[in-house]
Amino acid sequence: MSFKDNLKSDNLINGEWVEADSGERVDVTDPATDEVIATIPDAGAAETKRAIDAAHEAWTPWAATPAAERGKLVRKLGELMLRDADRLAAIMTAEQGKPLSEARGEINYAASFLEWAAGEAPRMYGETIPANSADKRILVMRQPVGVCAIITPWNFPAAMITRKIGPALAAGCTVVVKPAELTPLSAIAIGELAIEAGLPKGTVNIVTGDSKTISKPMFEDGRVRKLSFTGSTPVGQLLMKQASENLLRLSMELGGHAPFIVFDDADLERAVAGAVACKFRNAGQTCICANRFYVQSGIYDTFMDRFAKAIGKLKVGRGTQEGVNVGPLINDKAIEKVQEHVDDAKGKGASIKVGGEMIKLDGLANRFYAPTLIDGMTPDMKCASEETFGPVAPVARFEKDQEAIDAANNSPYGLASYFYTSDATRLMKTAEALYYGIVGANDAAPSTAQAPFGGVKHSGFGREGGKYVMDEYTNVKYVSWGLV
Ligand code: ADP
Repeated sequence: MSFKDNLKSDNLINGEWVEADSGERVDVTDPATDEVIATIPDAGAAETKRAIDAAHEAWTPWAATPAAERGKLVRKLGELMLRDADRLAAIMTAEQGKPLSEARGEINYAASFLEWAAGEAPRMYGETIPANSADKRILVMRQPVGVCAIITPWNFPAAMITRKIGPALAAGCTVVVKPAELTPLSAIAIGELAIEAGLPKGTVNIVTGDSKTISKPMFEDGRVRKLSFTGSTPVGQLLMKQASENLLRLSMELGGHAPFIVFDDADLERAVAGAVACKFRNAGQTCICANRFYVQSGIYDTFMDRFAKAIGKLKVGRGTQEGVNVGPLINDKAIEKVQEHVDDAKGKGASIKVGGEMIKLDGLANRFYAPTLIDGMTPDMKCASEETFGPVAPVARFEKDQEAIDAANNSPYGLASYFYTSDATRLMKTAEALYYGIVGANDAAPSTAQAPFGGVKHSGFGREGGKYVMDEYTNVKYVSWGLV
């Protein structure tokens, strides 16, 4: 059975699967082949407005549903995703390109956010505070913020959605989701399972089409009270301005430029394995993937040697092919940007140890880039400061610890950072010194539903995961109770 059998590709508004009012549809293509795999509605402001109507209508009864019951339905959605993991992974690989094994991994990861949020729902505790007079009591309660707009990117088509709708629904909010234009099918498949899980109509709405047209009513309609966004920093900044009109609450998970430091005393085997996983997962198209490497002088040559060998072994190809580690980049613009960063580094004196060019594969689109190792990164190179979002690892040598920490912190971004050392004091000092939301200390895969994922500076704000996640979707209210 193919994932295309019974593939849902309409919008979900108020529990109904609907077309765009105009009947217009947009192609969804496989980045590995350019094959059109489906078409989706080209919806606009009127459809979005109806989705907001539905979400608003559904909000009050949903917020009044016992938290444990809300949690049960959110958990059920996660269970259904795991039941259908193979199909969901196939949809994801088709529209996004990542290797099937990674897509499978993402479905597990996506479902884990639902499971986590489901567990948090009944623990939305309030508190009582001693009042300053004998005839008063102060009660603090947490209430859902209301209708949430959810805008997500293409690099994690399922997890970026569940990470937001899980806690939103668990908290008693309802959602209008606008998935990335390039990867809407995963979102729609999740919507289908939301209905099967029994989430009431109107609690989950999905609208596809032009992002500016759809987001406009989200900002202008005062009933939307929150925007949770994952995407690029420039778009995040733009949305933040638009959200100011109605003072929407915001969660902003934006770009990153992760440094990866390897100290002299690192466990080299683990550091190399971590570097490869962290850099080349999703073909380097993740906001927390290492963008620049700093390796200490004493182990520089050995590290480079081993890193080069490991990179050389990576298999590039279509995500559906067995054993492939690196799939296609998402579009032509991505390939151009990667080549621009490589050429820029070369032009400024770096040497290309592995890769450095596009790979042509028989019968496939020109969208595959060779995993690349660049030796001799300097601060003036684009790859040292701009997000490459591709399979390129530029490396610089450093002598003293502080040099690497200063270089790591010298960035407008502050999402993830990584380092490897075997010394406990060095570990703690470095972890404290890195001005980042996430520090992987001898760990190249720090993301998990249990931990508060999020950035600082131009990487945004808000925390997704851990006990903090419910704060993003709840308002704190207090009742000052006069005793009569
Ligand atoms: P990425 O580089 O990951 O595609 P973007 O920030 O361009 O990051 O896109 C992330 C999400 O934001 C996508 O769903 C996209 O459609 C949406 N988006 C992009 N531009 C705008 C905009 N001007 N207004 C509203 N949404 C936007």
